[in-house]
Amino acid sequence: MTIVTRFPPSPTGDLHIGSARTALYNWLYARRHGGRMVLRMEDTDRERSTQAAVDVIMEGMAWMGLDYDDGPYYQTQRFDRYKEVINDLLARGKAYRCYCSRERLDELRAAQMAAKDKPRYDGLCRNHPNPDNGNPPVVRLATPLEGAVVIDDRVRGAVTIQNSELDDLIIARSDGSPTYHLSVVVDDIDMGITHVLRGDDHLNNTPRQIHILEAIGAERPVYAHIPMINGSDGKKLSKRHGAVSVLAYRDDGILPQALLNYLARLGWSHGDQEIFSRAEMIAAFDIEDINKSAATFDMDKLLWVNQHYIQHLPLDELVSHARPYFEQAGLDTSDAVQLAAVTDAQRTRAKTLLEMADKSRPFFGELTSLDEEAMAKHLMPAVAAPLRDLRDRLMSHEPWQAAGLHSLIESVAAAHDMKLGKIAQPLRVAVTGFAASPAIDITLQLVGREQCIIRLDGALAYIASREQSG
Ligand code: GLU
Repeated sequence: MTIVTRFPPSPTGDLHIGSARTALYNWLYARRHGGRMVLRMEDTDRERSTQAAVDVIMEGMAWMGLDYDDGPYYQTQRFDRYKEVINDLLARGKAYRCYCSRERLDELRAAQMAAKDKPRYDGLCRNHPNPDNGNPPVVRLATPLEGAVVIDDRVRGAVTIQNSELDDLIIARSDGSPTYHLSVVVDDIDMGITHVLRGDDHLNNTPRQIHILEAIGAERPVYAHIPMINGSDGKKLSKRHGAVSVLAYRDDGILPQALLNYLARLGWSHGDQEIFSRAEMIAAFDIEDINKSAATFDMDKLLWVNQHYIQHLPLDELVSHARPYFEQAGLDTSDAVQLAAVTDAQRTRAKTLLEMADKSRPFFGELTSLDEEAMAKHLMPAVAAPLRDLRDRLMSHEPWQAAGLHSLIESVAAAHDMKLGKIAQPLRVAVTGFAASPAIDITLQLVGREQCIIRLDGALAYIASREQSG
């Protein structure tokens, strides 16, 4: 049997990280078993579905490297097929037309509520031999009145729902359009879905969908309902907790490998392994290892995973991921050697690519921002003489490489009877404008001779003006 999974987002907004995790698990399962994953846009809510949301989903999937084998299908393009199934269910007596007016249904509901009964359709048109009263009818599924549905859920175990709890679900509206459950089930059948892995917020839908499936006469897929993702306060993850969209994490400088790795572990585990390559994830993923309780989103852990990937990716790969963030920061990335050297120097110093680009401003072009506090603290009259000395020797120093620059700084420090640190920190502030940067010799190398001299001149002028103003 070929395993066929599905990712069926409703294109009504961002690609939520919860949905991305669902997509990932479906993808991993399909890839693990040499199966297929179907992408399906559940766009029947025409008011809320937008092309922009479709684009965002496609962009997010592509960014994470989650590919699919079939689709994207669009439910709005399959209405004829749904109508065919609805007509067939009517013809076979599995469904019936219900002519009850809105008023009657409202009264029924009010009476049931008053009697403290669960509101449900009472089956009037199901039992009435000739119910047509001229109202435009909806179509309802004739749900079994007795017995129960047992969902053999691969995460939850057996979940039993009494049929008496369910009423006759509407499968077509009075305008003939199919309802959500009908289209999902028809699609799952037509697309050959063997495994439905989805959020457990859909668990309530499953018995209803199973009834439709059985009325159609199709085999049940395997169900696995994945527990939700909560924020740190134990409530379902939402915008209140921070960014929830995949592309927001991209924009914040998270690597796709890191997000994927983090999401894989958010609700699934394989021993105590934390870092998984794509291939390792595929080889290790199993539904049985999905956690049975809700996961808690942990930004610090995501940043830790991100930092791991920033430190360990091959440099050329890291550079290609980092480049857009440098460009976004307005830095000139045309010198590929410089970009790679800066990225390499910063990879142990940044938790995100956004932070990396921001911290790298001193290595591209002129200084555009300064930390005034660091300048006031470190650019003191006592360092003017060694900085001037350094400046003069840097003018002709060759080659412009970290190792030789390091010896030069050491010898200037020694000549002025200073410890290296006493001169390195003022020098760092002078040439970068900030109190933190990579090792001082690498910092000088990356800033380049010309800017080093210009900035040292600026720092010396700053010290002189302090001296003047006392
Ligand atoms: N379209 C649904 C959603 O985005 C998914 C339905 C399903 O997985 O069956 O939540």
